[in-house]
Amino acid sequence: MEGERGARARASVDLGPQCPNCGEPWLRPTNLPGRYRCVYCLHRFELTSVCPNCGEHSTIVRMSSTAILKCNACGDSMLQAV
Ligand SMILES: [Zn+2]
Ligand SMILES: [Zn+2]
Repeated sequence: MEGERGARARASVDLGPQCPNCGEPWLRPTNLPGRYRCVYCLHRFELTSVCPNCGEHSTIVRMSSTAILKCNACGDSMLQAV
């Protein structure tokens, strides 16, 4: 199910988005679109299409590995714990 040991090794040199839960830059995309997992605290998050803070809709760039994780309007995280 997990099978991400290779990605985890690469993560040591490629710091990514910060985890909303622990604040560490270990957030990694999973094999599910819009789903992310923190390899530091192992929490899972889902990228929402509507900002949970201000309600602004956001366009999710799913083809990019560096998807936009923050609201364009208020800068709040678009990630919600799963
Ligand atoms: Zn975390
Ligand atoms: Zn917002």
